[in-house]
Amino acid sequence: MKKEILTIQSYVLTRMVNYLHKQGFVWVLPVILSKTTDPLFPDPSGSVEKGLEVEVYGQKLTLTQSMIVHKQYMIAQNIDRLFILSPNIRIERESRKNTGKHLFEFTQLDFEIANFNDVEARRFIEKLIMAALRYIKIDMNLEIKNLNPGFKIPKPPFKEYKYGDLVKKYGDEWETKFIETIDSPSWIIDIPRYFYDMQDEQGVWHNYDLYVPKYGEILSGGQREYQYDKLIAKMDKDGINKDKYDVLLNLAKEGKLRPSAGAGLGIERFVMWITGVNKISEVQPFPRIPGEKVEL
Ligand code: ASP
Ligand code: MG
Repeated sequence: MKKEILTIQSYVLTRMVNYLHKQGFVWVLPVILSKTTDPLFPDPSGSVEKGLEVEVYGQKLTLTQSMIVHKQYMIAQNIDRLFILSPNIRIERESRKNTGKHLFEFTQLDFEIANFNDVEARRFIEKLIMAALRYIKIDMNLEIKNLNPGFKIPKPPFKEYKYGDLVKKYGDEWETKFIETIDSPSWIIDIPRYFYDMQDEQGVWHNYDLYVPKYGEILSGGQREYQYDKLIAKMDKDGINKDKYDVLLNLAKEGKLRPSAGAGLGIERFVMWITGVNKISEVQPFPRIPGEKVEL
């Protein structure tokens, strides 16, 4: 494990946390065991095989895949801007072992903003990314020179591509082709997926993924569904067990869920891109690679 990688990781985390603090965000601590978690389903580019459950005090609890439900809950408590450095457990298919990009345990910078739409969220996320990167070549001069001298500081606003257009253009292999095509961070928008991502009357999904050249997806997020009838209809369509989401659904029924948008930035993938390493295991001191034995 190269010390420079951890130095860069500490730097970008500090820059982003400071930026969020200045923008009025509160820092919420993560939970690992919950009654419910992000189903991560359906997701056209997802490969999470199963959720993990444990029985504690006679109750079945699930390990966090993402804190989306908790974020919407906090927004309903009038916490208008919040973030969490959140450990996520995602049991990826073993076929993801050699991609060099997949982990079964990683950390997200997970955040949510009340009354933001998808476009406002993308502009905000670009500012957050720039807060991390704007001065990195000055402040982390030695580390960047050693690890990734060719690293290009991006310039917002990032280009946008519709998911459907990419699939039409490149077919099933769109993801591999897309990351070879782009030369700076780029948005993929309008992705058909989770019940909690907003879909409008025209069928357009107000969500987004951020992709970086060569490495792929580093962030997912969206504007949120908050209306009871829409949530129920989408959960039914996806075959989701509504009992597990009773807290969220009761809030929605009482009209207490609020409009918001947010995202989760995968820290290890973000650092991987900045440091230019070949494999994601190089940025984790304790690698969690699908299908590989854990050493520590
Ligand atoms: N649930 C997303 C993810 O973890 C993050 C978000 O939408 O806020 O991929
Ligand atoms: Mg994602």
